[in-house]
Amino acid sequence: MTSNSNSSDYDVTVVGGGAAGLFAAIFAGRAGQRVLVLDGAKKLGAKILVAGGGRCNVTHHAVDPADYAGDKPNRIRKVLRRFDVTNTIDFFREQGVELKREETGKLFPVTDKARSVLDALLSACNQAGVTLAHPQRVEAVERREEGFLISGDWGSVSADRVILATGGRALPKSGSDGHGYAIAESLGHRISDRVFPALVPLILPGEHPLRELSGVSFDGTLTVRAPGGKILHHTTHSILCTHFGLSGPGILDISRHWRDGIEDDAGTTLDVDFMPQVTQKDLDQALQRAGSKTPRTILRQWLSDRMSDTLIALSGIDGQSPCAQLAKNDRKNLLLACKHYVLPVQGDRGYTYAEVTMGGVPLEEVDLKTMASRKTPGLSLVGEILDVDGRIGGFNFQWAWATGFIAGSSAVFTS
Ligand SMILES: Cc1cc2nc3c(=O)[nH]c(=O)nc-3n(C[C@H](O)[C@H](O)[C@H](O)COP(=O)(O)OP(=O)(O)OC[C@H]3O[C@@H](n4cnc5c(N)ncnc54)[C@H](O)[C@@H]3O)c2cc1C
Repeated sequence: MTSNSNSSDYDVTVVGGGAAGLFAAIFAGRAGQRVLVLDGAKKLGAKILVAGGGRCNVTHHAVDPADYAGDKPNRIRKVLRRFDVTNTIDFFREQGVELKREETGKLFPVTDKARSVLDALLSACNQAGVTLAHPQRVEAVERREEGFLISGDWGSVSADRVILATGGRALPKSGSDGHGYAIAESLGHRISDRVFPALVPLILPGEHPLRELSGVSFDGTLTVRAPGGKILHHTTHSILCTHFGLSGPGILDISRHWRDGIEDDAGTTLDVDFMPQVTQKDLDQALQRAGSKTPRTILRQWLSDRMSDTLIALSGIDGQSPCAQLAKNDRKNLLLACKHYVLPVQGDRGYTYAEVTMGGVPLEEVDLKTMASRKTPGLSLVGEILDVDGRIGGFNFQWAWATGFIAGSSAVFTS
């Protein structure tokens, strides 16, 4: 492709054809714009296809700013209310994809196939006259006197407006390798100080007993605490023991808050309550009244055999002796292991295993009515490149749909 110095090749070029970029392209195309989407990946939509275990958790039945972290809730709200869950359901229904709500509140396509979501987006692009070009990785976006020059080793193309939809760094093999941040910076934007993997599994030391329970999952309460004990964040959800440490929705959700905490103060801790269904007081009383029963027998009222044995091992007590013989200090150690166990987290599994990136371009640098850049006229930013990350449950796609819709349908006004 070559550029034309008199008039631009395209009205709008979308850099990045993931969820947010495709959505932006569809709505810009529907508004009558000549739209080109450039994506560096060989196959489009890799993340959509792997999402939700291959079923694609498209959105959640109730979406609230509290389900997100990063930028300020009132800014996030402004975006989310412009394109809500009903709009998402209607969009996909119009494209022939019915969504079903599961018990967890998550919405999936009735086909249970992520492919139907991607096909619907690609067919909507086609109907809107959008041109898709890939693999065409964008190296640079330059602001010219009139519009932009977008270039890579495939050549260059000109456009009146650019929508930057390059995602973050999560799952880099999908094509989202963080180069979009450099492009945003070259166009005058700032990237938040903290850019880290989020929705990411956590690693425990090699010999840790919880690693021995690989494959076991349980419902637990996870709490991030500042060194003084102040609770920074907590969640009660399913936790999965794995060969490297811990995963599952609870761990994925808490991971960014743990990271944020240790960046503030290395003394921040993450503890787990393995038995949220029983209070510390009730557990203590059960142990004190157990007489000749062993601690193992008492714990098994609430936990599996293997988990009971592991917690007894973590507490360092003798689980076979009668409870009546437990020293006060042993009982205290057992209570701590069950209800307030500080996880010796060594780190996270990095971007390769992360579902999203925390950090990005601050929302204050974007006009949230249009997603237009406040730094470079004609530029808009959408999706995960912005400093917003949602919890598990379809919230990240809802952010992509909402920002994509706003930028795409406003593209005609934002030159
Ligand atoms: C394993 C996994 C499962 C997930 N499951 C869910 C789920 O079920 N529900 C949910 O809500 N969220 C889920 N997410 C998160 C969700 O996929 C992302 O938040 C969402 O895809 C972000 O959309 P985006 O368009 O902003 O970025 P991306 O989807 O990352 O898309 C960015 C696109 O830009 C392209 N690109 C990047 N740089 C360049 C460049 N320089 N030039 C050209 N193209 C470029 C990339 O190739 C990519 O196609 C999951 C993520 C992962 C990794």
